[in-house]
Amino acid sequence: MSRSRSIDEIIGIINKYDSFLITSHINPDGDAIGSQFALKSLLEQKKKKVTVVNAEPVPSAYGFLGKWICPGELKQKPDFEVAIILDSSNLLRLPEAVLSLLLDKFLVNIDHHISNEKFGRLNWVDPEASAVGEMIYHLYGKMDCKISRDGALALYVAILTDTGLFRYANTDSSTHDIVSHLIKLGINPQEVAEKIYEVNSLASIRLLALALSTIKIDDTGRIGWLYVRNDMLEKTGTLLQDTEDFVNYVRSLHGLKVAIFFSETKNKDEIKVSFRSKNKTDVNAIAKNFQGGGHPQASGCRIKGKLDEVIPLVITEVQKTLKQNRQRRDE
Ligand code: 5GP
Ligand code: MN
Repeated sequence: MSRSRSIDEIIGIINKYDSFLITSHINPDGDAIGSQFALKSLLEQKKKKVTVVNAEPVPSAYGFLGKWICPGELKQKPDFEVAIILDSSNLLRLPEAVLSLLLDKFLVNIDHHISNEKFGRLNWVDPEASAVGEMIYHLYGKMDCKISRDGALALYVAILTDTGLFRYANTDSSTHDIVSHLIKLGINPQEVAEKIYEVNSLASIRLLALALSTIKIDDTGRIGWLYVRNDMLEKTGTLLQDTEDFVNYVRSLHGLKVAIFFSETKNKDEIKVSFRSKNKTDVNAIAKNFQGGGHPQASGCRIKGKLDEVIPLVITEVQKTLKQNRQRRDE
């Protein structure tokens, strides 16, 4: 479906209905958070009733963007006609507590993951977009909506974080055009960067030190990984959200092709795995082998098992993929 037809259909739904619920994936990142607040701002400008619901509270580094509601705080089921799900490639990315609110509702899926499973009644999926924030920016334009200061801030955060501070392959001139516009609307890049990236707690740096001490590189020097166990979180008094950037320390190693971060989840028998690649290795394809997904250069999955079982399983799979890619190139 062409991009403009999808946007037009979304606009049709926004115009037709009065009440909306907005949500996104578990472990929300800057794009999930920013795009939700930016869309809320747009819908409110159109005089719609909007509830933003996510299972976890807004992570503290993004607290300056606002607050949403957690299912436990709801006195009754929210009354809405349309649910808009952002930045989520499938419904399994939503927590049970939020999913249960969506039964029988009109689902609109707005996402930029190549692995998106088009689970909505209406799906607007644009893998070319650097962030869902970029898509919401275009929605503002198409709907002739003025971007408020708060809206601009939320959009800027979404794009800044999902492009890895404008370093990843999804960054292009259109990304910078949008950001240039947002800066003209009053965003101060230094202020935002300080708010998100220069607010580490000593505890989170102590956790980083523990995580860095687990770094390993395979024999080929092309695959590197590190991990965080729950007892490290307990020892340092930190949360899993404090680990968001850890994988990038491995990714930055010279000669590395794939970086992997493993973390125990609350459920000790399930491991969260984050993949990053820095060349053409498609880590979305690797995550797919474990029922996960994401982007070609950043993906993830959850795998049942203990750390010492899951790590060798995943490393073997990545080695197999790199070997196949190499053979393909040599053919
Ligand atoms: P992260 O490693 O930062 O959690 O996620 C990297 C990318 O992969 C994000 O775009 C995220 O949406 C996606 N991703 C992470 N975990 C999963 C998963 O379990 N399933 C799917 N489909 N995508 C995931
Ligand atoms: Mn995103």
